[in-house]
Amino acid sequence: MRICVVGGGLTGLVAALRLSESDDVMVMEKEDTPGGCLSSYHREDYWVERFYHHLFPGDEHLLAVLKELGIDDRLEWLRGTTGYFVQGRVYPLTTPWEIMRYPHLSLVDKARLALLTLRARRMDTESLDRVPAAEYIRTHLGSSLYTSFFEPLLRSKFGDRSGEVSAAWLVSRIAIRSHRGPGGETLGYLKGGFHLLVERLADAAVRKGCEVRTATPADRPERYNGRWRVNGESFDSVLCTIPAPGLRERGTSGSGGVPYQGAACMTIGLDRDVAAGVYWLNMKDPAPYGAVVSHTNFVPVERYGEHLVYLASYFNRTLPAGYGETMLSDFCSRFRVPPGAVHWHALAVEPLAGPVFTTGYRQHIPDYGSGGCYRAGMFSIPNYPERSMEGSVIAGIQVAERIREDFTA
Ligand SMILES: Cc1cc2nc3c(=O)[nH]c(=O)nc-3n(C[C@H](O)[C@H](O)[C@H](O)COP(=O)(O)OP(=O)(O)OC[C@H]3O[C@@H](n4cnc5c(N)ncnc54)[C@H](O)[C@@H]3O)c2cc1C
Repeated sequence: MRICVVGGGLTGLVAALRLSESDDVMVMEKEDTPGGCLSSYHREDYWVERFYHHLFPGDEHLLAVLKELGIDDRLEWLRGTTGYFVQGRVYPLTTPWEIMRYPHLSLVDKARLALLTLRARRMDTESLDRVPAAEYIRTHLGSSLYTSFFEPLLRSKFGDRSGEVSAAWLVSRIAIRSHRGPGGETLGYLKGGFHLLVERLADAAVRKGCEVRTATPADRPERYNGRWRVNGESFDSVLCTIPAPGLRERGTSGSGGVPYQGAACMTIGLDRDVAAGVYWLNMKDPAPYGAVVSHTNFVPVERYGEHLVYLASYFNRTLPAGYGETMLSDFCSRFRVPPGAVHWHALAVEPLAGPVFTTGYRQHIPDYGSGGCYRAGMFSIPNYPERSMEGSVIAGIQVAERIREDFTA
């Protein structure tokens, strides 16, 4: 069977690797290199992701893929610490002692937050799918906890659509992130960067006979004589792994109404740590970015010879002109970084960086398709409630199984 995989991100590459075991597969990727949201910058001495990435101990399928590719020995488990930036100060919030000392939440609010974290894993999230997260928190935990804790978090993740996000998403998200110990969260990273994962996946698929065509934007798949035509070539099946809005434009049925948002992420190489050792610093003070993610407070700075910081921001519709300069100048003045301290900076903008988990989201999640036309990716069920590398690996594996089943039936 001849199969076209549109999109060479993680979902597309994993599906291509599986399908290449038995079929003739071609991946069409519009960019010059595969990887999608997991692609990286190549600096002189190192690779670093364009968007901050780490993995979780429960990412079974991803861990199995690393083993299969022979790079599991490059995996390291590190400590992920968090904090809040409030009124010009960094507050580490990882250990119970740091949380107890944090002055911007009352004792009652801290107790309510702890209780929600404990209960989240047992809660029935389906009934919360139509309830906005803001309404749920205000009603069950009080307005002050919403304003001082959840509102900045939701805003940093969903920008001006944060009010539409469902309580089901929030509770599921708390549940999957509630496995942290008193010293912080254990998070995984690949020595050498996730670039290695993308490279090895593509190489392994090619060794099985798959063709990976980069710099090849695929046009809309068309049905003819019981086959599918993409970019003038003929296939038995086509699998689209591009973001859901792209699928809708291409008229790929069943892609539903999954709403998407964009990500603008600035990476800065500099001579200092600005976050008092904290990896993930949420901004409570209003800034043109919702979090300062200090990669080198997670992965040892010696590997890079400089500190690396991401300024993370999400947007809907379009990014205002000059946004990168606004982010950088705000960062330098807010964190008192003189211009000479910045070695380099680069802005990555992905207009379709992931779904917005609005109320009623679950009913929009499309299935994998059938009859020769398939879709899988960040919008698929394994990527709910959080799009992740693990979710995309599972989606790639499951859709490959579906395609095989259809053609052996
Ligand atoms: C800011 C950010 C931070 C993240 N952090 C983490 C993290 O810490 N941990 C974690 O587990 N996950 C994280 N993720 C999620 C993870 O990166 C994604 O789940 C995964 O990489 C998505 O892979 P995908 O193949 O499903 O989609 P994509 O990466 O979007 O791949 C789709 C591919 O299709 C290509 N394409 C689009 N249109 C066409 C066309 N017409 N023709 C051909 N090709 C086309 C694109 O160029 C792209 O390569 C993060 C994502 C983002 C955006």
